[in-house]
Amino acid sequence: MANVHIVHLETPLREEFRQELARRIYFLAEEIVEFTIDGSDGLLTGVRLSTRDTVSTDQLHRRLHTVIANDIRHQRVGPVKVYWRSSHEAPDGMPDFARLCDEGLVVPMGEGQMALAEPLLTLLDNADRQLVALVRRETGAVQYRYPTLMRTETLRQCGYMRSFPQHLMFVTRLHGDSDTYAAFSDRLAFGDDLLAMCGNTDYCLPPTMCYHTFQQLSGRRLGEPMAITARGKSFRHESRYHEGLSRLWDFTIREMVFLGSRDYARQTRERIMRSVCELVESWGLGGRCEVASDPFFVGAATAARISSQRLLELKFELRLPIGGGRDIACASFNFHDQHFGDAFAITGAEGESIHSACVGVGLERLTLAIVSQHGTDPRAWPETLRPSDI
Ligand code: ATP
Ligand code: ZN
Repeated sequence: MANVHIVHLETPLREEFRQELARRIYFLAEEIVEFTIDGSDGLLTGVRLSTRDTVSTDQLHRRLHTVIANDIRHQRVGPVKVYWRSSHEAPDGMPDFARLCDEGLVVPMGEGQMALAEPLLTLLDNADRQLVALVRRETGAVQYRYPTLMRTETLRQCGYMRSFPQHLMFVTRLHGDSDTYAAFSDRLAFGDDLLAMCGNTDYCLPPTMCYHTFQQLSGRRLGEPMAITARGKSFRHESRYHEGLSRLWDFTIREMVFLGSRDYARQTRERIMRSVCELVESWGLGGRCEVASDPFFVGAATAARISSQRLLELKFELRLPIGGGRDIACASFNFHDQHFGDAFAITGAEGESIHSACVGVGLERLTLAIVSQHGTDPRAWPETLRPSDI
């Protein structure tokens, strides 16, 4: 049975923080089933939460107020700077997720996990191929395929553990000895708590691809600027925010990483951002590219970090409409300054820490935006994205 909790905000929040608040609420407790945010006269005054099982209202109150104090209240919000706007309008009446499932193009497999079928697979690959051609042409990027697992130590070095603990996915395995293997087989029959025999957390599922690149170049001195691209499965536990094809637990990123001087990293990010926007325009899609911030979580300086990220324009997002008045971030263009150069001791010719930038394209989201805007019949897709046999 659901329990309903009403948590009043001790100090109301301004209405423009609604999104920032909403994107954090499910992370307060696993038990939350749904919520609504109350507000009037431009102020948010409270949150109504339904929970399964018992979680105390006091606990929810404390967690909500901590998150608001750390992550939200002191963010500076202002008009969003738009870098690019497509000349195309997104059409009305785009197919929704249910229709993609009805047509058998997407098959839900579990929480935040989807199987894709043809012709979406070809669409995703064709779009990706053009992105690779673009980055190779513009930067001479070298292509790698990275392993599925990522060292836990790499995530720690990147600062991911501290900034995004809510998304982490550990991989574990049995303690490596023959007694454990035998005991495991025996106890399997009794349905015991088998995870008690697991202990190793040296590896994680990667949340993004560029961290592989930093690990790969760890301790290296780069005589020349370097561009690398890779495509791979990325995993983020986004709690109950998992939704359709737009917020997955298990998704695919085409990543491009640029390492070198400050000018090289910033200018290459800008050049690729312009080219990706032109490509999107050539596909006849409506959308825009604008300044954005990351969903950092619970640390005393989070709000200040988000504000400075926006102010310094460290992150831009390509947002494409998918119908129902919604748009989704299909790619991000990030400047890291010397953060990863310092963390992985990657230096330039003079021994100084390198600067880096990356571009991450979410291929399922991009595919979703294309079929949302052009429909599910491949004959209506731009020629460069169609399967070759039609
Ligand atoms: P959001 O703010 O929407 O959660 P993000 O800013 O955390 O996205 P990035 O870290 O910039 O995302 O990742 C690069 C790209 O990967 C995003 O622009 C998006 O297209 C894709 N992506 C990120 N998270 C997911 C997800 N849970 N499901 C599907 N695609 C995702
Ligand atoms: Zn990246």
